[in-house]
Amino acid sequence: MASFDFRTVPHIHSGPGSAGRLASIAAPLIGARKRIFLVTDKGVRALGLLDTAVAGLEEAGLTVAIDDSVVADPPEDRVLATVNAAREFGAELVIGFGGGSSMDTAKLVALLLGTDQPLADMYGVNKVRGGRLPLILIPTTAGTGSEVTPISVVTVGETSKMGVNDPALYADLAVLDAALTYGLPRAVTAATGIDAMVHCIEAYTSKIEKNPVSDALALAGLKKLHGAIERACTDGQDTQAREDMLLGALLAGQAFANAPVGAVHALAYPLGGIFHVPHGLSNSLMLPPVLRYNADIADPLYAEMSAHIGLKNPGAVALVEEMERIADAVKIETRLSQVGVSHNDLPRLAEDAMKVQRLLVNNPREMTLDAAKACYEAVL
Ligand SMILES: [Zn+2]
Repeated sequence: MASFDFRTVPHIHSGPGSAGRLASIAAPLIGARKRIFLVTDKGVRALGLLDTAVAGLEEAGLTVAIDDSVVADPPEDRVLATVNAAREFGAELVIGFGGGSSMDTAKLVALLLGTDQPLADMYGVNKVRGGRLPLILIPTTAGTGSEVTPISVVTVGETSKMGVNDPALYADLAVLDAALTYGLPRAVTAATGIDAMVHCIEAYTSKIEKNPVSDALALAGLKKLHGAIERACTDGQDTQAREDMLLGALLAGQAFANAPVGAVHALAYPLGGIFHVPHGLSNSLMLPPVLRYNADIADPLYAEMSAHIGLKNPGAVALVEEMERIADAVKIETRLSQVGVSHNDLPRLAEDAMKVQRLLVNNPREMTLDAAKACYEAVL
């Protein structure tokens, strides 16, 4: 067998209501520290999702500063402003509480407070020098898996995405509290849930770093998500479905943190950058054409995945048709024209996608400019 590395966060705690018990769950990590800096967005704060967590921390004698300035696709200058706020507060521990953008920002805050290295020097893979502050991540959507990945993506300039990918970004603790996700709107549940399924599918076919541990996690994640997504979209209060979605997204995150995603994500990124299509939806849109393109090479792997979730006639066709059926059932957009893309935009999208070589190298079949154009065309 080829050699491989597998890394993940050292401590995962899962249980409904666990956010309110954070002080005791994280007690060994908190130690003698008193000043907690919590990074979130205004939506999460307005919904009251922070309340029990903050109350529990304050009852334990800790001082909590809340920064709710995170926006989707966080711009670099905003991230740096949050870093300054944390420094002025004298943060001793950082909590990321929310969706992928809040968790990604919290990772960089913890990192930049622990080292003199500038952010601009950290972009890329394994570029981080020095340590970071203790870091706890608490997701409020079941999708990105950012709570267990060593990746933080920020927007630099107008539309270009830069990533810091380094083991230093693995949090010390990830806390799953399904109660935080009961109120997620159907459209968000659907898009982020399909994104998590894409993480499983792309990790399982990842060309370079696919390994037996990530494979097991990808299959387990796909099964949980597949079994729960329609129930979670139909009834947001279905506690079992919500728990399965959150756990499935975490398993997917552990898989793709080690066996990175490929062309679905590479072709999805320009939709986010140029048209501001949310990450989950853009991946859901690009999944069918990329899977059909990959089928020549990856059909046996798609067959294994579709057999694992109980589909008839396992293979790429079965998997694509099942994912298309789910997208219809959970009522999200399935055509690029529904998110403002026109025929004239396709060349630019394809050219931008080809720039995402860091992901394209993981795709099981080589993605060319013409093939990328054809993928966009197929779902216009
Ligand atoms: Zn994704």
